[in-house]
Amino acid sequence: MLNCTKAPFLVNFSHLLIVPVNRQICRSQDWDRAQYPTGDRRLKVMSPLLEVQDLHVYYQTARGPVKAVNGVSFEVRVGERYGLIGESGSGKSTIALAILRLIKPPGQIVSGRILLDGVDLLGLSEEEMRQQRLASVALVTQGAMNSLNPVIRIRDLIADGLSNHGVRMSAREIQTHIADLLARVGLRSEVAGMYPHELSGGMKQRVCIAIAISLRPRLIIADEPTSALDVVVQRQVMQTLRKVQEELGAAVILIGHDMGLMAQFADRMGVVYAGRQVEEGGVEELFAQPKHPYSQLLMASLPTLEEKGVFQEAQGAPPSMLDLPTGCVFHPRCPYVMERCTLEEPQLQMVWSGHRAACHLLDGDRSLDRSVAQIQEDISS
Ligand code: SF4
Repeated sequence: MLNCTKAPFLVNFSHLLIVPVNRQICRSQDWDRAQYPTGDRRLKVMSPLLEVQDLHVYYQTARGPVKAVNGVSFEVRVGERYGLIGESGSGKSTIALAILRLIKPPGQIVSGRILLDGVDLLGLSEEEMRQQRLASVALVTQGAMNSLNPVIRIRDLIADGLSNHGVRMSAREIQTHIADLLARVGLRSEVAGMYPHELSGGMKQRVCIAIAISLRPRLIIADEPTSALDVVVQRQVMQTLRKVQEELGAAVILIGHDMGLMAQFADRMGVVYAGRQVEEGGVEELFAQPKHPYSQLLMASLPTLEEKGVFQEAQGAPPSMLDLPTGCVFHPRCPYVMERCTLEEPQLQMVWSGHRAACHLLDGDRSLDRSVAQIQEDISS
């Protein structure tokens, strides 16, 4: 059994950057003593943990700035599972890197605020930010296949991270801690002695989750954690992520474009298009009554058990981030485009409590309360 050990953690994992300082590694049974009262999920998700306010991230190029994130605002509450969904290149991963302050030149966080427990991460020094990463936030990347050093055993990957973070444990305690971490993600303790290349893709991703939770962060960012995995393994990995999230009482930002995964995992969801957040709401409401035409098209493109055959899709392609359309960025693809849409950028506005969307149609008389069948009819006509 592990003893509680207070120690400064000074090193980051090369790909995970979890850097707690003066953080406690406790007895393994303490893990289950949730940070929040168990059994009352509503209590857990009420207070904000992360607040992203009017975030702008640009990549400078010879042809001008690529506005990868252009005025995104959202919050993630304590213990909440928040989904960020959008097409490839919409800015989702850039938002994640910005939260971790891992944007590298020519990328730059141009403006905005990122508050974690009320602390503005953008105002911290590099060292302070490194400490925040350690203490508070972990990243599970989408490249499990490539994010583990193939010539280092799993045991040494985890132990190396712990010791480099200043965790002082006996060899026996580390062995117990690693076995406990592996068990929490559904892996046998023998996996500790294996090399990454001996593991399947799903096992590697679970090792990544084990590393991510090894220092008990309050926020886990999972950036397409199931990409390149088959659906059965996807399900196992998502179940593992959900299990450890609930055990930790941590919040999770799940980034992806798989609507099914989002529906099963997230409490709330933000829809991102061309670097902007176009809609946000509870998952159930957003799936049942999407208000933004882009969200409606996403929902209309989903197959159902009842409806088979050809599915609707958004016509056209996302715009070049170097040359964004004027007005509403979605207007070249929107089936309801009006003249105003080409001139004036819509702002996120409240549809009802907890649900926001950015569309001029919400200002007018035209109802956006269309069923998926009506949306498909509209698009076909
Ligand atoms: Fe479509 Fe106009 Fe709404 Fe944009 S503002 S989504 S173009 S209707």
